[in-house]
Amino acid sequence: MEKKIKAGIALAATGSAVLMNAIRAAKYVPAKNDAAPLPEERINVERYTKNLSDAIKIKTISNLDEDKVDWAAFDELHRLFEERYPLVHKTLSVEKVGKASLIYKWEGKNPALDPIALLGHQDVVPISKGTLGDWKHDPFGGEIADGCLWGRGALDMKNHLIGVLESVETLIEDGFEPERTVYLLFGHNEEIVASPNSGALSIARLLQSRGVHLDSVLDEGGAILPVKVPGVIDKNLAGIGIAEKGYCDFEVSITAKGGHSSNPPTHTAVGQLAEVIQDIENHQFKAEITPLVDDLLERVGRNTSFLVRNVMCNTKLLKPVFKQIMKSIPASASFVRTTTAVTMAQGSPQANVLPQKASVTVNFRIMPGMTIADVEQHLHDVIRNKNVEIRLIGGNEPSHISPTDSRAFHAIEDICYRMNPDNVVAPYLVMGGTDARNYQDICENVYRYSPFQMDPKLIFTTHSTNERIETASFHDGIAFFKRYIKELASC
Ligand SMILES: [Zn+2]
Repeated sequence: MEKKIKAGIALAATGSAVLMNAIRAAKYVPAKNDAAPLPEERINVERYTKNLSDAIKIKTISNLDEDKVDWAAFDELHRLFEERYPLVHKTLSVEKVGKASLIYKWEGKNPALDPIALLGHQDVVPISKGTLGDWKHDPFGGEIADGCLWGRGALDMKNHLIGVLESVETLIEDGFEPERTVYLLFGHNEEIVASPNSGALSIARLLQSRGVHLDSVLDEGGAILPVKVPGVIDKNLAGIGIAEKGYCDFEVSITAKGGHSSNPPTHTAVGQLAEVIQDIENHQFKAEITPLVDDLLERVGRNTSFLVRNVMCNTKLLKPVFKQIMKSIPASASFVRTTTAVTMAQGSPQANVLPQKASVTVNFRIMPGMTIADVEQHLHDVIRNKNVEIRLIGGNEPSHISPTDSRAFHAIEDICYRMNPDNVVAPYLVMGGTDARNYQDICENVYRYSPFQMDPKLIFTTHSTNERIETASFHDGIAFFKRYIKELASC
């Protein structure tokens, strides 16, 4: 009898816990948003399509060696801007900075307000050797086929660049006059990470020298991606990059006597280095669910199905489980830790020569909050062989983390939602570098977001073969820019 009562109590307790959790899951939904849909914008998709297609035909390929850059191509792109966007050029001032970067300034009526800036880079990456034949359409043909506009720069990022110009031209046609100054800042060598003459940095320094402090910066980064997993989620994820990881390369080397390979020691410099590599790879950086990842999980979690929300509503409790899962998948591990990749190795120059020096290059992508100096210290800590030499080759520190409660972030969130209530805006960490980080000394609110909806599989064509953008995304992309400028520059 007593047994039965105990079992009954246990059953009742489990039942009430399940019920409590179900109630929690039912309440675990996005904050109510009653905002009405936005009024329609006038958009000239035809003009934009033609101009983007023609811009793609111009080979503005950047190169670390500036002598190898075809600067006439950049001049041609500037001419295209001038011819196709006459009102922009009549209303805004244009200034060339460095080799081919541009500052457009749309003077606001109230000079007391901090200006906003929309960024874009004019350069594209080249076509990798031996891959031209794999393109279904000429990478510099600007062709339209199968619902897409094809070519280098279609996604990264002439779509965004021309989209900004198109939206400003249309706003001027509409008679819009900004209260707050609007800058359009177009660098010319974003793709050259190691460039000592970064166009974006030159622009940022010039603005800083003029005492400009920006209210907000919008650059490339996230996009709108449909996230459809049956029974889990059916939404569009608009990722807003609020920070970008840092980057550094270290050379780790061991020197030895060398000599003829017929008389070798048990462990040559290369052999010793093998142990060093293991030390590095076996001691990964600590993973951490940062507030940024927390926020991302929370916003996505609240938009999942009721069944999944039964789990997601306990994110705080389940943090260690999420961390374990994210750590184990390379694609998500990069969100929670500084990553380590041993990429290049060098030994002796010939098969029968003992190495006098053996080295590996290790590439790190650094989490915001950590520094290059921390990475160097980590290498010293984990490598047991104290005869190694550790040398920093180069790198960039991680960016600051921009707030998610600023005027600009709220504007992006509000516009995205009102354009489509199925859009879920979530902050995220940008893995690659963008021009945006150069502006953090003159702006706290730096966001990386490109408002074009795309099929997730197209992302992988960026910097690769068959880069293309869906033409169906053009209308809303331009509409977003118009609304963003109106929202932020009206007061
Ligand atoms: Zn880019």
